[in-house]
Amino acid sequence: MATKTKKKMISVIVPCFNEEEALPFFHTETSKVLKKLGTDYELILVNDGSSDKTLDVMKSLAKKDKHVVYLSFSRNFGKESAMYAGLCNASGDYVGFIDADLQHPPILLKDMLNALETGKYDCAACRRIDRKGDSKIRTWFARKFYKLINMISDAQMVDGAGDYRLMTREMADAIISMSEYNRFSKGIFSWVGFNTYWIDYENVERVAGKTSWSFWGLVKYAIDGIVNFSNAPLDLASFIGLGTTVLAFLYLLFIVIKYAFFGDPVQGWATLACIILITGGMQLFALGIIGQYIGKTYMEVKNRPHYIISDSNKKSINKIK
Ligand code: UDP
Ligand code: MG
Repeated sequence: MATKTKKKMISVIVPCFNEEEALPFFHTETSKVLKKLGTDYELILVNDGSSDKTLDVMKSLAKKDKHVVYLSFSRNFGKESAMYAGLCNASGDYVGFIDADLQHPPILLKDMLNALETGKYDCAACRRIDRKGDSKIRTWFARKFYKLINMISDAQMVDGAGDYRLMTREMADAIISMSEYNRFSKGIFSWVGFNTYWIDYENVERVAGKTSWSFWGLVKYAIDGIVNFSNAPLDLASFIGLGTTVLAFLYLLFIVIKYAFFGDPVQGWATLACIILITGGMQLFALGIIGQYIGKTYMEVKNRPHYIISDSNKKSINKIK
């Protein structure tokens, strides 16, 4: 019965990259919600190699709030690594992620916790129902990306679902066990399975600072998502190769017949030039696809750590993993 009275512990992981302006607001707003949950909690702030005063802000927050744990990277490793570092160092019964810019309304933590407490779900996740503040072209590409990836990949991804979620220890451990170097959290969350409860919310704009995503950054991210969770592009390369070979044979047959039966002299440098250019282009395209996979494989086999922590206020941590 002793376990029944013991307060549950919630770990909330916050990846932060150049968030000196947003962090104080974030801390105030999120703490207000966390204090009212009736559980124990820790706020794990991960400084992802910020070049501004984010680390100083974290240190001063940790000084006045014992719930704050900060982990500071030796350089910028990217949001995915920051999330992984948080996971590997979270001690809660429930573990969650939230952005530092208040684009994820902290009040939803309460709804997510309620959903988990029913015992019916292993994960409660938030999805934004609109893309207010995003440009039209970005929205269009995002929609197409989700359509495509759900068609070709072995993990279903939900449009609008970000990293804002709370999950049980079991699910957190399952995610930690996926120690791949090329991390694509949206896919990983879906791949591990478990029952997810969805909460809709309206998009909120950043409280301060600016987004670290450029358009091309997002395109690269989309390609990563596809390559990490699907082999469809490799199939596509094979089909294109097979298709052009068949077409080439048919064309060869056509030329032979034309010459043998109709005495048509072989001619047409324009056709030749087109064929060489098209097949050359397709070969490079297919090589590029294969290259994407080989590049990823190369990074995986090197087995480099996901992150290196150079500073923290917590003693026993996984400094390198
Ligand atoms: N972030 C990070 N490392 C990075 C880039 C971003 O830890 O290299 C953090 C950032 O501080 C924020 C969250 O990831 O808390 C989401 O980033 P951002 O707001 O720039 O993305 P958006 O909301 O525009 O998708
Ligand atoms: Mg943001």
